Amino acid sequence: MSEYVAGRHFLQTPGPTNLPDRVLRAMDRNAINHRGPEFGALGLEVIGKLRQIFQTQGIVGIFPSSGTGAWEAALVNTLAPGDRILISRTGQFAHLWEQMAAKLGLDIQALETDWRHGADPAAIGAALRDDRERRIKAVCVVHSETSTSCMTDVESVRATMNAAGHPALLMVDAISSLACTDYRHDAWGVDVTIAGSQKGLMVPPGLSFTAISDKALTVAKANTTARSYWDWAPLVTANKTGFFPYTPAINLLFALNEALAMLLEEGLPNVFARHDRYAEATRRAVRTWGLELQCEDPRAYAPGVTAIRVPEGHSADKLRNVILQKFNMSLGNGLGRIDDKVFRIGHMGDLGVLQLTGTLSGVEMGMRVAGIPHKAGGVQAAIDYLSGNA
Ligand SMILES: *Cc1c(COP(=O)(O)O)cnc(C)c1O
Repeated sequence: MSEYVAGRHFLQTPGPTNLPDRVLRAMDRNAINHRGPEFGALGLEVIGKLRQIFQTQGIVGIFPSSGTGAWEAALVNTLAPGDRILISRTGQFAHLWEQMAAKLGLDIQALETDWRHGADPAAIGAALRDDRERRIKAVCVVHSETSTSCMTDVESVRATMNAAGHPALLMVDAISSLACTDYRHDAWGVDVTIAGSQKGLMVPPGLSFTAISDKALTVAKANTTARSYWDWAPLVTANKTGFFPYTPAINLLFALNEALAMLLEEGLPNVFARHDRYAEATRRAVRTWGLELQCEDPRAYAPGVTAIRVPEGHSADKLRNVILQKFNMSLGNGLGRIDDKVFRIGHMGDLGVLQLTGTLSGVEMGMRVAGIPHKAGGVQAAIDYLSGNA
């Protein structure tokens, strides 16, 4: 048994994120008939609001699944075994997506990175120009690599695809960027964007979202790959009237409707600015502590999460464990090849300034207790920045 620690738990993982009381209240009610008129109105309202968040006039489908389900749906609807995809190995989530593609029999062309930068649009462009036989059917990128806190410039990836005159689909994992930073499915010419409920959208885990371009829909129609639950076609048809082909996650949709209302009330530009401010405050704390950011490219810093390297010879997991036991706070762990070398502070979703400074205090105190070499004053640097910019 660990010792009792009073007060609220600080859930500062980069997903799941904290749930606003308004969202909790919205889902705390009886289910409704998912074939009845009340449900259809809810479905249409939710999809309409989601379109604003994805910045698309087109289709946004909702699966009752984690984000991983939307990945699988994207691959099986648009591709057939043997088709080639181009994927940039930016971190653990790109790695998992690639592994799934391999299991589904896709042919993978991978571009290496050092896990400290986003995908390189120039390298993608070069690979596409070299692909004279047009074997690459899709380019897959992770917008915010939650494992490294590096962003990929999706607009530039699209520009390089256009410059190469290559017909591949552009698929983007925006699971940890949507509702944290500006995301433009239509304007950036993305064919498939996938997202999940439990990160910037402030909803419990269990829903995934897929924005689908007309081009991707046409490709899916012609694709004969076997699929059933993940088939976009019945979902897209039912969604037109706000319904689903099976029992939807009704109470999660109540939660989502409220969370989307909150985001639109705050105003998306304000939501994005808030995330940027918290990320900058966090990085100022890290620099003052004398620790290293996992992301080495200042243009690629993620707004919703910051991955921090512990000094050589120290354990990030031990630090996280001390912080959990002593200060009742959960932080994200290092994933894959940076396991135990990195800890991650989630600062996305429903978060107040005092929750952020409390989070940074917990990290600074934890480093003292765990004996992680650092300079004091990181929290002060964050406070100085936040009080000047609040
Ligand atoms: C969280 C996350 C995932 C995985 O989503 P699940 O909902 O756990 O399936 C995939 N990609 C990124 C970028 C993520 O942040």
